[in-house]
Amino acid sequence: MKNSVNTETLLIHGGISVDERTGAVNIPIYQTSTYKQDGLGKMRGYEYSRTGNPTREALEALIADLEGGVAGFAFGSGMAAMTAVLSLLHSGDRVLISSNVYGGTFRLLDKVFDHFNISYTIADTTDLSVFESQITDGVKAVVIESPANPLMTVTDIRAVAEVSHKHGLLVVVDNTFMTPYLQKPLSLGADIVVHSATKYLGGHSDVVSGLVVVSTKDLADKIAFIQNSTGGVLGPFDSFLLIRGIKTLAVRMDRHVFNAEKAAQFLSSHKAVKKVFYPGLENSQGFEINKKQAKNGGAMISFELHDNYDIHTFFESLQLVSLAESLGGVESLVCHPSTMTHASIPADIRKKVGITDGLIRLSVGIELIDDILADIDQAIAKSERK
Ligand SMILES: *Cc1c(COP(=O)(O)O)cnc(C)c1O
Repeated sequence: MKNSVNTETLLIHGGISVDERTGAVNIPIYQTSTYKQDGLGKMRGYEYSRTGNPTREALEALIADLEGGVAGFAFGSGMAAMTAVLSLLHSGDRVLISSNVYGGTFRLLDKVFDHFNISYTIADTTDLSVFESQITDGVKAVVIESPANPLMTVTDIRAVAEVSHKHGLLVVVDNTFMTPYLQKPLSLGADIVVHSATKYLGGHSDVVSGLVVVSTKDLADKIAFIQNSTGGVLGPFDSFLLIRGIKTLAVRMDRHVFNAEKAAQFLSSHKAVKKVFYPGLENSQGFEINKKQAKNGGAMISFELHDNYDIHTFFESLQLVSLAESLGGVESLVCHPSTMTHASIPADIRKKVGITDGLIRLSVGIELIDDILADIDQAIAKSERK
C-alpha cells in the first residue's frame, strides 16, 4: 500500500508514522542516550543513541520512503551529511563538483578533505562532452546540485548519471533546493541524495539538520558504519521537528512555488532588474531539462539590479524580507551570495562561474506574495542612485 501512494500522502504516512507501543500518531521524542539491556548481549533493538534512536529512525525511514531509496540517515547538519558521504572516498581519489556547488561543500573539499589527499575538480555538468573529458584517472565521484545555487544552473541529472556510471563514478545529488516533492534524483539514476534539511524539509527556520538517502544495501551498510563511527547524528528533538515539518511539505511547496512564479514574472518585467535566474522561466537556462526532471522551477530566484541601483541601500530598505543566510523557510529571505553563502569561494572562481557582486538571491516564502513584492519594489525604488 505505502509503495503505491503519492508523495503528498507519503509525507504524512511514510516511514514509521505510528508509535508501536502506544498508538500515538506522532513518534515520541525518545530523549535518551542509552537503553537497558535485559542481559549480556540481550538488547531490545537499541544500545546507544549514536548508533540508533527510535525518533531518528522514524525520520530516516521517512526520508528513505520519500526519495525512493533503500535507507536514510539523519545528521546534525547538511554539511555533516555531506561529510559522511565524502567519507566513502579514499586518499588519492578525486571528486568532480558542479561549478555552482554550495559554498560549504566547496570549502569542505577545498580545506578539509584536502588534508586527506582527496582532491576535486570544478566540472561543467551542463556540457556532457566537457564533463566526460574531466573524468580522468582517480575520479571516483561527482557531486551535483540542480538547480544549483545561486545562478539556478540546471544539470541534466539522468544524463550526467549515465555518463558517470559508464566510468564507475558514484553519483551524489544535493537535492536541498527541490526536495523529493519536486524532484527524485534516485529515480533519475543518482546513487546518493543529500539534503540540508535545515531548508525546505524543516521549513520553519528552526532546526539545522542533514539527510542522506542511498540506493543500495551496500551503500546503506557503508553510510551506517560511517554515521556511527564519525558520530554527526541528529538529536531526537530535532528529528521530531523535522518529521513535523515534512508533513506539510507539499502544501508549503505549492505555495512557495506559486509565489516564486509571480515574483519571477514581477522581477523580469521590472525596469531596475538586469537579469533574473529562475528555472521556472521559459527563457531560462535549462528550462526544458528542469521540466523533464522536476515538477516545476522551485522557489529560489536570483536577480541582478542595473548598475545605477545600490544594493546596500536595497538590503537596508527591506522591511518584511530579511537579509539572512539560509532559505526554504516560511518567511521570505534575501542574501548576497558573493559576501555571504558563496564567500568561501575565491573571488576569481566566483567571477569565472558568474557570481557577480550585484547578484541578489531571494528565497520566496509563503506570505501573501503581493506584500512581499510591494516590499521589494519600495526597496528597489529607494536604492536608485539619483
Ligand atoms: C544550506 C545548504 C547546505 C548545507 O547545509 P547545512 O544544514 O547548513 O549544514 C548544503 N547544500 C545546500 C544546497 C544548501 O543550501
